[in-house]
Amino acid sequence: MLSLSTPIEQIPRIGIVYQKRLKKMWIKTVQDLLYHFPHRYEDFSKITPISRIKSGETYCILGKILKIKNTRTWKKRMFLTQAIVEDQTNAIRVVWFNRPYLVNILKEKDKVCLAGKVVRGDDGLYLSNPAHEKIPDSKGAFKNGGERIGVQIPDSKFLTHTGRIVPVYPETEGLSSRWLRFILKPLLTKLENEIKDPLPEIIRKKRKFLPISKALWQIHFPDSQALARRAQDRFSFEELFFIELLVLRERAKIARQKGISVPLNINLIKKFVKSLPFKLTDAQKKCSWQILKDIEKSRPMNRLLEGDVGSGKTVVAAMATLDIAKAGFQVAFMAPTEILAKQHFQEISKLLRDFNLNIGLLTGKADKFISKKLKLEVIEISRKKLLEKTAKGEINILIGTHALIQEKVKFKNLALVVLDEQHRFGVEQRAKLVGGGNQKEIGAIPHLLSMTATPIPRTLSLTIYGDLDLSLIDELPKGRKKIITKVVSPPNRQKAYEFIRKQVKKGRQVFVICPRIEAQNEENLKEVSNSKTTQKKKALLSWAEVKAVKEEHKKLSKKIFPNLKVKMLHGKMSSKEKERTMLDFKRKKINILVSTSVVEVGVDVPEATVMMIEGAERFGLAQLHQFRGRVGRSKYQSFCFLFTDSPAKKTRQRLRALINCDNGFALSEKDLEIRGPGNLLGARQWGIPDLAMSALKDIFLIEKTRKAAKEILELDPDLKKYPLLRKKLGEFQQRIHLE
Ligand code: ADP
Ligand code: MG
Repeated sequence: MLSLSTPIEQIPRIGIVYQKRLKKMWIKTVQDLLYHFPHRYEDFSKITPISRIKSGETYCILGKILKIKNTRTWKKRMFLTQAIVEDQTNAIRVVWFNRPYLVNILKEKDKVCLAGKVVRGDDGLYLSNPAHEKIPDSKGAFKNGGERIGVQIPDSKFLTHTGRIVPVYPETEGLSSRWLRFILKPLLTKLENEIKDPLPEIIRKKRKFLPISKALWQIHFPDSQALARRAQDRFSFEELFFIELLVLRERAKIARQKGISVPLNINLIKKFVKSLPFKLTDAQKKCSWQILKDIEKSRPMNRLLEGDVGSGKTVVAAMATLDIAKAGFQVAFMAPTEILAKQHFQEISKLLRDFNLNIGLLTGKADKFISKKLKLEVIEISRKKLLEKTAKGEINILIGTHALIQEKVKFKNLALVVLDEQHRFGVEQRAKLVGGGNQKEIGAIPHLLSMTATPIPRTLSLTIYGDLDLSLIDELPKGRKKIITKVVSPPNRQKAYEFIRKQVKKGRQVFVICPRIEAQNEENLKEVSNSKTTQKKKALLSWAEVKAVKEEHKKLSKKIFPNLKVKMLHGKMSSKEKERTMLDFKRKKINILVSTSVVEVGVDVPEATVMMIEGAERFGLAQLHQFRGRVGRSKYQSFCFLFTDSPAKKTRQRLRALINCDNGFALSEKDLEIRGPGNLLGARQWGIPDLAMSALKDIFLIEKTRKAAKEILELDPDLKKYPLLRKKLGEFQQRIHLE
């Protein structure tokens, strides 16, 4: 018996080869197959009498095969299958290339439906390489009404590939649309009455959705374009609804946990603010207040601090850190790379130097560790010692990379986790960090403060980031020099190089960012966008990127700047190599650093004043803005050059938006508007299904699904009344990864 959970191996007509291909697409069960949706349709629903067709157009015809035979063009070594097909009005020649097997399928006197392009050849019109389908020649296979135009009209029930609106699937991994239709149609027929609707009835009724089995039919084999759209609407809603349920449930889960309530020590905070060499911006004050207030509560904070590069997030985090550490609890401060961890260690130590705290630095590889006590005295201790001190609670603040969440690291009373440039850290992960003793007894989990320079459009903060509260630093400290941004077209390239030479002579340094070159190569691009697994996608992209960096490095070091020190940085280097290169750059042993787009986001290189971006048109505005944020960190005037060979006016206009706008948030909204959600930073990597992905720009739909999800969860937080929904949600959760 076939059911939704039947594995594909047990579906009739799917052999080993296809099983493998399907698995590559993460299609493992009947359900996965049914939820593999077409990305567009071909409308072959109108049958045209042969007498009315003209060259250059696509038609669907219905007629009888008069003759059919194979011939071979010897020169080109190609098979030609030629046929003549006749309806009541006329006859036409049909030609297929390289499909010799067709003569075994289509025989003389067969009734066929053919859909394809009509072309004018030497001997008149012919139908070229049409999709074909045999029709039973019985009365029941036809509908009334064709007589008027002199042809028969088939009942689309009997048709799969022609004579109807036909689904076209993303063709990938050797899965053709024709094959998918051939497999899907009988499955839908067999399961029609078995498929239960995961959407609660109130929602379905209220929004007038098609019932599940009808929706599945209509999304694959629609009776009209309008019905196809209604089916898509239903599934867009469904996918967004699942995302909302997941994040809202996560939110509720956190709200049920106990946190460590730390009363705000206002005198301490005042003293800290006074000790700073600058005045906090209003935005920094507002965000600090939100965070400190959260920390006072007895449920754990789950907050995202969002602010442009250079907006001063570290000070805000330091304030929360100080408040908690002075109340006698510990803080874990996690950075994505070792270099950044060290940078934070130095920064935090400096900011908190008057407060008599022990600050530890723990990284991945080296086995020497530094602990810091009083003023600026640095003590090196072994990892073992550092871990002991952490477990005893003698280290107030432990800074590090992912090494912090190793099993061996035990805190005594951890009350706050700060994450830099990583957005999520689940309840379970946090619970793991909690030490023994007192804290375990209370069962409290630490507060979470996550920091990001990635501007998050509102549609995403309501979906993917919907479980996090948001604090926005929406202004830069006063007196920052504006970075001079220029779009450089090919004729001005030499001038820009000349300018760079002069900057380097003055002791300044230069970043060069290369885009992935896969865009130049259609094949590669297709391969990437069709990869279903994140891992494969990432691998392909980084491969293309490394290649681009190597080529650019060669060009710059050999031809353009042979006298300067040009080095490269990319993902294929070991982390040790990367770190050495980055340090060399910081220490000015390198003049020009050619890099991929992903490496070492937040590293501070004060003397770097030029950011040069190749193929700028391939990046989103928000991302370009982030690259730009890597320069301009000193008293020197900084520059950002956007190189583009694209002659398109629209591209240049888009890039010009950067010249006048230095608000990353506004730029990201603009990106979303112009390029759609598929291109958002990292969005492709979340594994979000296509329909939800395109719905991610629809704020109204998002607000509606969010409301619907809230209503359901308020009445039934554990979805006890909706076992099917709960099950589907579990499956959905395994597919997407919102990190
Ligand atoms: P980001 O938000 O990118 O992490 P940082 O926290 O590293 O930014 O801050 C960037 C620089 O700005 C640091 O050198 C910091 O000391 C400085 N800074 C932070 N806040 C202010 C402020 N209100 N006025 C002036 N400088 C500030
Ligand atoms: Mg930072």
